Amino acid sequence: MDWSPLLQRWQGQVFRPGERAEIGVGKQLAAAGRPLPTSALWLRARSECDVRRALDFLARHEQGFAVRSGGHCFADLSSHAEVVLDLSELRRMELNLQGLRAGPGVSAGEASAFLTSRGRLLPTGGCPGVALGGLALVGGFGLLGRSHGLVCEQVQALRVALPGGDLVEASAHHHADLFWALRGAGAGQFGVVTELLFDTQPAQALNVVHGRWSWDCAADVIEAWQTLAPAADPRVNLELSLSASDDPEDADEGPPLIELFGVVLAEAEEVPALLAPWRRALGSLAEALCEWRLPAAAAASYLCGRLDRRCEPAWQPSQPYREHGYQFTKSGFFAQRLPAGAIQDLLAHFAADRRYAQYRELELIPWGGAYTATSDQRPHADCAFSHREAQFMIRHTAVVGARSNAELRAHARRWAQASRATVAAAGNGRVYQGYADLELPQWAQAYYGADLPRLRALKSRHDPWLLMQHAQAIEPSFQDLPKG
Ligand SMILES: Cc1cc2nc3c(=O)[nH]c(=O)nc-3n(C[C@H](O)[C@H](O)[C@H](O)COP(=O)(O)OP(=O)(O)OC[C@H]3O[C@@H](n4cnc5c(N)ncnc54)[C@H](O)[C@@H]3O)c2cc1C
Repeated sequence: MDWSPLLQRWQGQVFRPGERAEIGVGKQLAAAGRPLPTSALWLRARSECDVRRALDFLARHEQGFAVRSGGHCFADLSSHAEVVLDLSELRRMELNLQGLRAGPGVSAGEASAFLTSRGRLLPTGGCPGVALGGLALVGGFGLLGRSHGLVCEQVQALRVALPGGDLVEASAHHHADLFWALRGAGAGQFGVVTELLFDTQPAQALNVVHGRWSWDCAADVIEAWQTLAPAADPRVNLELSLSASDDPEDADEGPPLIELFGVVLAEAEEVPALLAPWRRALGSLAEALCEWRLPAAAAASYLCGRLDRRCEPAWQPSQPYREHGYQFTKSGFFAQRLPAGAIQDLLAHFAADRRYAQYRELELIPWGGAYTATSDQRPHADCAFSHREAQFMIRHTAVVGARSNAELRAHARRWAQASRATVAAAGNGRVYQGYADLELPQWAQAYYGADLPRLRALKSRHDPWLLMQHAQAIEPSFQDLPKG
């Protein structure tokens, strides 16, 4: 194809195959567990005009493309295409009386630093590098989620370039269908989001909680956690993490361990009462619990992952990655408790057949609280995120390094699949769309549930030619396709 009509007026950078390694794709891990693809053309937009020009050109040439903001998609859906439209330079931020206006390329860490210095806060996820573009479109959970709801519920309006190049503003009052769909099901589906307007909250001090136990306590801690965490006061948001280092033989770090971590978003004097049920349920295990009271600025750093679980500065890369390791992730939601037998199977599988240079982690993420809100309770909860019934989510992760061989990667993949299988019968069959999984057979049903027919009708209306094409693009519904 002759790209020159587009490239002559292009303001941003353009990369062709071969140049990609030099620019670095900025990814630590190939999250779908396979090498990152090479695209024929990588268009890094500098402005909304660039985006519209690209969409107009691509539509006229019926050329499909992927959209990328922060590049953190677990299935690498933002990188697998002939043409990648990269929005990482759309990073303008402005705070005014309406809220925070941010480009899709703004990372959670950048938004946090910008807002903290102005006394405000945006609830995000726990990884500072994830971009607001992708995060707000998949839903977005984090350590303030049980109190404030999803990241997508903080969105008041979005500017969207539709396939073909038309620009619209979607809000509760304009293009309300698109506003509904983008918040939860918008990742690479209906249009390219060029700006988001978020509500913000006053920055607030909070308590950080951390506990660490040896492996023989794991079953008891999980039992206590699944009773308490999903039903706790919404201001209490505590996750469980089970981890096994990449050196099983190491005397200190070899044995797997279990950690509880998270926040209590309350005045200092209220915290003891909020944690009392946890101390009672954990009994003597509660002696391992530590707490820190963080002032608002440090709290914001902790929430977006710039401080680690014990409030120490978290390690951050100083350069873009030139080589990437491989990550294998499975996840699922649960609407009921894990039976004791499933916990035993999960733990036995976690600790069995470990390999040198293979790291494993299980994360148990509490749901409930504000995640269950209906649109009667909070108008912004009327969005395409339907995982409202869940009690918690489990993520199973194996990571191997860039120099790993095919056998070690295959072993890690099998481990993650089998780990999910140990608890699958207790799950509700639903999967978080923000943890996109290429191996999921019924992915559309698992991500979107009963919202799927409405989403398919909207796909027919906004992207009937399937220009926004990736392995998990929503199928347009035939009867809703434009005539002619
Ligand atoms: C290390 C790590 C930690 C994470 N932690 C959390 C967490 O705490 N909470 C949580 O909820 N999730 C978390 N996630 C998942 C993450 O939120 C999602 O993968 C999110 O979609 C990534 O957004 P991105 O812009 O960085 O990634 P990208 O790969 O750029 O985009 C993700 C998806 O959104 C689409 N997209 C991106 N920008 C746009 C746009 N402007 N318009 C239209 N479509 C777009 C892409 O095509 C792709 O399908 C984590 C992921 C990683 C890798």
